[in-house]
Amino acid sequence: MSSSDGPNPASDSRSCPAFRDSIVRYVDGTASDEERAELEAHLRNCPICRDEVEGHTHIARTAHDMRFVDLPDDAWHDYWQNTYNRMERTIGWLLVVIGFIVVGVCALARFTQWLVTNETLGLIEKVGLSVLVLGLALVVLGVIRERIALRRFDRYWRIKR
Ligand SMILES: [Zn+2]
Repeated sequence: MSSSDGPNPASDSRSCPAFRDSIVRYVDGTASDEERAELEAHLRNCPICRDEVEGHTHIARTAHDMRFVDLPDDAWHDYWQNTYNRMERTIGWLLVVIGFIVVGVCALARFTQWLVTNETLGLIEKVGLSVLVLGLALVVLGVIRERIALRRFDRYWRIKR
């Protein structure tokens, strides 16, 4: 890919980068007999180009497999159904989280206002209530964060499999 492909260990006049196109045609099976013979001669004493051929063969095979894996209609239906379900759940979760944040912030503001302006509660009671609400908020936040982290892991796991 780069032009700094080290010295050519082969004894022929062409350098490795000049064989790149031949390698692609060779793997495709569209190389001419002459081209193939020339490349094969070069491959015999060039490990770099042998690696290249191996890489292209792997890519070609993977592309071939992907094209010819015949998914039955049911599988496609399931795939789209799953994608849709996942999307629905993701949006649902997003709305729940947004709603929680909005309601939470409003409630916290109201609570703070009520606490500050309250004249029947003593200082210790106010501090106690503040700590309690703060603790509850942290617990709720922790649960939400855990859920989000789990979802991310879940998605990663599904892809890796
Ligand atoms: Zn080479």
